Amino acid sequence: MTAALTIILAAVNIAFPRPGASLPAIDRCYVIGAAPPGTTNVVVQGRPVAVHPLGGWVAMVDLVPGTNTVAVADTNVTFTVAAKRASSASSAAPPPRKYEKLPYAADELRVCSTNLVVIDPGHGGDDTGALSPHSLPEKDANLRMAKAVRAELEKLGYKVEMTRETDDAVPLYDRPRSAHKGGAAAFVSIHHNAPPYDKDPRDFRYHAVYAWNDPGEKLAKAINSRMAETLGGALKNNGVLHANFAVTRSPEIPSCLIEVDFVTTPEAELDSWNPSRRKKIAAAIALGIADFAKK
Ligand SMILES: [Zn+2]
Repeated sequence: MTAALTIILAAVNIAFPRPGASLPAIDRCYVIGAAPPGTTNVVVQGRPVAVHPLGGWVAMVDLVPGTNTVAVADTNVTFTVAAKRASSASSAAPPPRKYEKLPYAADELRVCSTNLVVIDPGHGGDDTGALSPHSLPEKDANLRMAKAVRAELEKLGYKVEMTRETDDAVPLYDRPRSAHKGGAAAFVSIHHNAPPYDKDPRDFRYHAVYAWNDPGEKLAKAINSRMAETLGGALKNNGVLHANFAVTRSPEIPSCLIEVDFVTTPEAELDSWNPSRRKKIAAAIALGIADFAKK
């Protein structure tokens, strides 16, 4: 099957950082974008950067506190970087994301009295989520995957509700609402990932599932093991991690958040558009949910 992703650009495009963005106190950041067909390299801050045959490119640039202007081909992008705090220069880098395992209210696994599963495609509306080199938003990759998961779950006999079916902005705390109302067997939020701003996206590709409490962790493990089985060596498995997210905190509804893959390299972006790969991953996620719900 040929690639489903074909975008013809007239000029070099910069997907990240966005003009006017405010970045935390970091010494370097990634710059990603895309170039017109036939371009073999783009010059970023005076250095040639290889362009993927489908147009995407990735570069790393050094930053200074305050205003930074990065020259990419004939375009400049200007953004700001926060100043480091003089009092704690050695610990001025942003802290790593914290995943807490906190006590939970309901520590007994809910008996699945319904065959309802709620699928939550992450982001939407003005909230694009991560951007790929061609500036394709994560919110769309999430929605495509969520619809594919719904189709697979329906084949297995589940009733599926989605928190959004179009490009809507749904407030974070409203997302688990229908799962609570319907007594869902599982609530699954679907996302695609981006690395921290100061890390090279070429070093970041894996799948991972995040949960907060014990029921969520059981659901997450079931999904993660089916994903690992299906993707095998094709994608690194970062396992099940604890995350205190709005969408993983439901005490009675087993909930988890899947980072299906990253979208921040040309290869990852292309994979996110591959319909047969999407169907395979969606089938694995649906089987994982079924493994959990049957128990
Ligand atoms: Zn996301």
